[in-house]
Amino acid sequence: MPVETNNKMKAPRSRQFGGGLLILFTLLLLLNFVVPSFFGPRTPQIAYSDFVAQVQAGKVSQALITPDRIEFTLKPDPTTDSSQTQQAPRVYRTTPVPVDLDLPKILRDNNVEFGAPPPSNSGWIGTLLSWVAPPLIFFGIWAFLINRQGAGQASLTVGKSKARIYSEGSTGVKFSDVAGVDEAKAELQEIVDFLKNANKYTSLGAKIPKGVLLVGSPGTGKTLLAKAIAGEAGVPFFSISGSEFIELFVGVGASRVRDLFDQAKKQAPCIVFIDELDALGKSRAQGGMYGGNDEREQTLNQLLTEMDGFEANTGVILLAATNRPEVLDPALRRPGRFDRQVVVDRPDKIGREAILKVHARNVKLADDVDLGAIAVRTPGFVGADLANLVNEAALLAARNGRQAVVMADFAEAIERVIAGLEKKSRVLNDTEKKIVAYHEVGHAIIASLMPGAGKVEKISIVPRGVGALGYTLQLPEEDRFLMAEDEIRGRIATLLGGRSAEELVFSKVSTGASDDIQKATDLAERSVTLYGMSDHLGPIAFEKQQMQFLDGYQSPRRAVSPKVTEEIDREVKEIVDNAHYVALAILNQNRDLLEETAQDLLNREVLEGDTLRDRLQQATAPAETENWLLTGKLPENIPLMQETLA
Ligand code: ADP
Ligand code: ZN
Repeated sequence: MPVETNNKMKAPRSRQFGGGLLILFTLLLLLNFVVPSFFGPRTPQIAYSDFVAQVQAGKVSQALITPDRIEFTLKPDPTTDSSQTQQAPRVYRTTPVPVDLDLPKILRDNNVEFGAPPPSNSGWIGTLLSWVAPPLIFFGIWAFLINRQGAGQASLTVGKSKARIYSEGSTGVKFSDVAGVDEAKAELQEIVDFLKNANKYTSLGAKIPKGVLLVGSPGTGKTLLAKAIAGEAGVPFFSISGSEFIELFVGVGASRVRDLFDQAKKQAPCIVFIDELDALGKSRAQGGMYGGNDEREQTLNQLLTEMDGFEANTGVILLAATNRPEVLDPALRRPGRFDRQVVVDRPDKIGREAILKVHARNVKLADDVDLGAIAVRTPGFVGADLANLVNEAALLAARNGRQAVVMADFAEAIERVIAGLEKKSRVLNDTEKKIVAYHEVGHAIIASLMPGAGKVEKISIVPRGVGALGYTLQLPEEDRFLMAEDEIRGRIATLLGGRSAEELVFSKVSTGASDDIQKATDLAERSVTLYGMSDHLGPIAFEKQQMQFLDGYQSPRRAVSPKVTEEIDREVKEIVDNAHYVALAILNQNRDLLEETAQDLLNREVLEGDTLRDRLQQATAPAETENWLLTGKLPENIPLMQETLA
């Protein structure tokens, strides 16, 4: 995110206030307690026990009893001569007095005049101060420390939202500044129209959507898109990050949300942009069973309430960005909240070229620079990486004293950015790309022959999201809530298709299939232990399905005998093995198709639409597939797998 100016000017004032308070009250305290002991009469001090001894010896004439000590006067001593008497002091103080209920009696018995001192000269102000000052000092120190921690405004302006306000049109970003994400742009274009011509929609009784969720990897341009909407529509833009709501104190987040919406409603029509929505909107179920994060939950609840609370047509449109949509609380996605989701994907080759063009607009390029060629060499780069790349190349050119940026600068910049990126995001080398291409085509070919799973829409080797090096997008033709037995088998074979293709082509496997294998095994296990699909074991649930609303929670096994456990393991293995065999057999039979499609994918990075459909239609299934789908069984004496593959 680029740096923006914002109105955070209040911070220094509150800091000074806290500090000033501290200094003022420390001074008052000093005056009240320390000063009298410097300037007050300096009387010698003796132990309380000595005082009592003196009284009992009859040497004391007067005693002034204050709450914490006793000031007393000795009788003139007749045994010493007068010159010494003048030097020896006659007024003494005791050390602080223990509670001694016998004291009045002792004093009376020895004829000592005693009483309380006149009220101290500091008067009621001093008394008041000595009561009020300590808590105030405590507060001062506290405010001071909090300020220093940088949580600053929280202590004194608690609950004010920190949304940065951009005045009308000042985001200065237009759709033409965003490239390579055409689908997202097309969907968001509509929002601009809502903001500009609200009447057109409201006069027909249509409700303008309130919330749009932008989903995509970091740096793909989500913030930029949100700003572009505000820029195009010429409306104010409020931006705040989800993590900024959460502070030290419970309840602050909620009041910030309230404040944000208050401000936004005053400025409507406007755009409110919440970055990193996941920081705040994490599924409440994921807090664990024993209490979650109270503050976050309260904040989230407030957000939900506010979203429900304003009328659809007030002109406030909420945009939120996240790269982890799967952790979001389902309540956020309900109708009337973030019910529109726009995917901001990593750009493909053409998209990357377009983004390079946008960022090269203000850079002097030499004639030999071919942005298309640079796009080819930067698979996996997102918009932010490409912006960085152009800048890096320009810096290199300047350092080399050139008049314009040449292709060699870009080549070096790519290396720099990749070296810096390796840990952050994945950029595949050529061998890896090849493996991923065959792997994905393997999935796609099997998927196209299996029942119920829907059409293969897209294969891509542009790395995406967390962990995915490539992906095969399969869209169901309709909503499905049940999965038949043959579909489960088909799904398992599809999952194993990637690994099978690697085995077939490279005769070795890579680590890339671990997730597929995990999913395939899980599915096979569940079909036995949960769905009761095994002929041997019958419809007995071997797992307790307890927390169906908590994802990722491994349900425990029912208590089963070791024999049954063995049986389950055998069944699961048989299901997976058979599916693996079928996957290999299918790919073996379609070997040419696999090769051609993988090469094509390597060249284009993305295969979709008619091109893909035409290819996958050529796939054929071997004879044993149909029976296997129905029964899960393979012919008795199938040739050994290795022989089939040879
Ligand atoms: P996100 O919010 O998705 O993490 P940003 O919108 O903050 O990403 O992107 C950071 C910067 O990267 C932008 O300011 C812009 O310079 C550049 N950028 C990212 N995506 C694009 C894009 N699609 N087109 C042009 N520039 C982009
Ligand atoms: Zn895979």
